[in-house]
Formats: sequence, C-alpha cells, structure tokens
Amino acid sequence: MANYDLIVCGAGPAGAVAAATAAQAGLHVALLEKHTLPRHKTCGGGTPMVMQNLVRDLVPDAIVESDVLLMRHTWNFAEPHLAPINVSETDRKLSIWMMQRSVFDNALAQRAAHAGAKLLDGVAVRSVELEGDRVRVRASTKERELTATARYVIGADGANSVTAHVLKRRRPPTIALGMEVEHPHTWGSGHSDLRPEIAHLEYGAVKYGYAWVFPKADHLNIGAGVFRPQYGDARRDRAARGELQQAIFGYLNALHLKYNPDTIRFHAHPLPVWSGKEQLHSPDGRVLLAGDAARLINPLFGDGILHAVKSGAIAATCVAEGTTQRYSDRIHAEFAANFDAALRLAQLFYRYPSLCYKYGVNHPRGTRLATQLLAGELSFTHMFSRALRRLQSGLLGHSASAR
Ligand SMILES: Cc1cc2nc3c(=O)[nH]c(=O)nc-3n(C[C@H](O)[C@H](O)[C@H](O)COP(=O)(O)OP(=O)(O)OC[C@H]3O[C@@H](n4cnc5c(N)ncnc54)[C@H](O)[C@@H]3O)c2cc1C
Repeated sequence: MANYDLIVCGAGPAGAVAAATAAQAGLHVALLEKHTLPRHKTCGGGTPMVMQNLVRDLVPDAIVESDVLLMRHTWNFAEPHLAPINVSETDRKLSIWMMQRSVFDNALAQRAAHAGAKLLDGVAVRSVELEGDRVRVRASTKERELTATARYVIGADGANSVTAHVLKRRRPPTIALGMEVEHPHTWGSGHSDLRPEIAHLEYGAVKYGYAWVFPKADHLNIGAGVFRPQYGDARRDRAARGELQQAIFGYLNALHLKYNPDTIRFHAHPLPVWSGKEQLHSPDGRVLLAGDAARLINPLFGDGILHAVKSGAIAATCVAEGTTQRYSDRIHAEFAANFDAALRLAQLFYRYPSLCYKYGVNHPRGTRLATQLLAGELSFTHMFSRALRRLQSGLLGHSASAR
C-alpha cells in the first residue's frame, strides 16, 4: 500500500494544477485519473486568454487552436450581429482561447508529472474514507484493486465527484446541462461568418439557456446548455435534452453545414453551477474539493475551466502551507461575491432573455463587457446593478411603447 502527502482525485484542470502546485512545493503527490490520457471531455473549451497568467510555462501555440476576437450574436438564428471584443484603440487587448480539452488537460497532467507528481491514469477512485490522521483512497484499474493513504486528499473528480461524499453536503446541487457535437470543418469553406476568429452565440433557441459554435483547428464545437438557476437539476427535465439537440441542429442548418442526422454524435454532461457558499473541506481539513466537484461553475455563462485552475492551485497551496482549515474561506473570498452576483444576473437574464439580448448583448460594448467578466477584469457585482438599471429603463420604454 502506497503512502503520500497528497492524493489528488481527477486529472482535469483542477486536479492537474493542484498536483503540479503541490509537487512544486516539495510534497509527495499522486494524481489519479479514471480515464487513460489523453481523454475526451465534453466541453466547449473556451477560456479567456488570462489563463496564460496561471499556467505560464505552457506554450500557447501547443494548446490554443483559435484565438477569438469577434462574437456573432443571433436571436433565433436571425439578424446576426458581429461584435468585436476589443472595441476601441485604447482597449487593452483581450481574446478568448479555444482549446481542445483532450490536449489542454493532457498538457496540464504531463506538467504535473514533470513537477514530480506520480500520474496514474486508468485508475478510478471508488471510495475516500477518513481514518484518524490519514485518508484512505480505494481505487481500481481494469485489472486490479488499489489502496493508498495520504495526509490529504483533493477531490477534483468533476461533476459526479466520488470524493465529495466525504463532506456529506446538505444542499442539493443546482445542475445545468450541456451538450455538444464536434463537427469536422475546413476553414475557408461554407458560410462567410465561419472564421477561426469568430465565436457564435445564439440566445432565442434554448429556453433558459444558449447555444454556441466555437472554432477549433479542424472542427467546430457546436453546443447548447440549459441553465435554470431557480430549478434544481436540469437532468431531470426530460424535454431539455431534446431542446438542446434541436438547438444544435438549428445551428447546423443556419450555417448551411452538411450532416447526417443518423450518425451525429451528441455528448451531454452535467454542470454543477454555483448556488451559494458551502463548506468545501472536511471538518478535520483532510479532504478538500476543487473545480466542478466544488460546484464552481459560473451560473450565468456556465464556464468553469478558469475557476477549476484557480481553485486547484488554492487547494494545493493550503495543503502545502498546512492551512486547509481555511480553505473554504479562501475559496469564498475568491469567488463568492462575484458568483452570487452572477447568479442574480442569471436569474434576470434567463427570465427576460429577449430584453437582455436587446439591451445587453447588443449594446455596442456588450461583447467586451462579457469578455471582461469572463476574464475577471470586471466584477459581476458591478455589472449586476448596471444591468438592472438598463433593464428597468428598457422595461419602462417597452411598456410605454406597448401602450
Ligand atoms: C457541454 C459543456 C460545455 C462547456 N464549455 C465550457 C467552456 O467553453 N468554457 C469553460 O470554462 N467551461 C466550460 N464547461 C465547464 C467545464 O468543462 C468544467 O467546469 C471544467 O471541466 C471543470 O474542471 P474540473 O477539473 O473541475 O473537472 P473535469 O474537467 O470534469 O475533470 C475531472 C476529472 O476527474 C476524472 N474523474 C472523475 N471521476 C473520477 C474517479 N472516480 N476517479 C478518478 N478520476 C475521476 C474525470 O475523468 C476527469 O478527467 C463546459 C461544460 C459542458 C458540460
């Protein structure tokens, strides 16, 4: 039986960054991943370029397939509105990186191994148990059962986290649902708005959600998500899957892309979105949750990669410093105020989507503001009061013109 200072469960962005950070701090670390790497991950793979500041040693050319500078917004696939992220000459240049998660996550996992973590892929964690001053992790490969212990465990095992059971969280999760297809594409062919520097966003086709087309090197990631901040679990909504599929077909048709409906491969995955502060470490501070396992997905946009990376680094730093009892407070200090405001904004946005589209998305600086929010350059708290004022004046104008 192996003994470690730290076992990290899950080699997505949260786990791989946690393992690298802890190994760099001199800890004896194991990183367990149930799939053989590289593995597919159902995800749009879009992240603000500020990611570079968090993983400086990764070469962007090795992970970034397209650098998005424009967004093409539509309502029910009509009246496309092409908006730049960088509006004026004086705007600090921002962009959205489009990556393939299989490539990005594998690069992060290899980086952790290079830093000294023992990377064990094809190893699925079955249970995590507190045992005195150590934590026991039981896992299995296709061939055999494994047991290891550690002083600490970081659960970075995603939306269906096994590790999270240790914490016995009382609040039921708020689960959004995302779906995507990877459609092969040759740049320079087809619709004139299909360009590697353009991301497409559609708001009218999904009730309480949106759809997207994200450009990659050799394909388009076409997807849709349903975000119902006030309803618990979108997976229980039988109609949601059909609606997401219809939105994806809607995009394929609107952009005149050829496909065979019988062979198209949909991938769906839950998104545990933020729904308020929760305890994210066990009472003894031995088990910590990061990334999706900690439900750190922004409830407005549904993005979680940057938050996974940040929370993985914070978790590992707490372990290395021996300050794990302060972990939840540190995560809340980093995310809570902003995510609470994003949640209020999501409740507004998905309740009045056409008004928000008209007065927010189509605002001349709307695309820039959204990118600044994604990048953390602008706070959702600031944006919420601003959006409320705009919506109120929009609603007043709307009812006045309706009279
Ligand atoms: C359709 C869709 C589109 C999305 N698009 C975007 C986007 O464009 N931008 C963005 O920022 N976010 C997006 N997200 C959210 C994003 O994918 C997640 O927030 C992000 O992957 C979280 O990273 P993580 O490391 O916490 O978890 P994950 O990336 O899920 O990694 C968890 C890892 O743990 C492994 N694992 C699970 N169980 C076990 C086990 N028992 N034992 C061992 N290993 C285990 C998994 O195989 C996986 O490798 C999207 C999500 C969906 C569903």
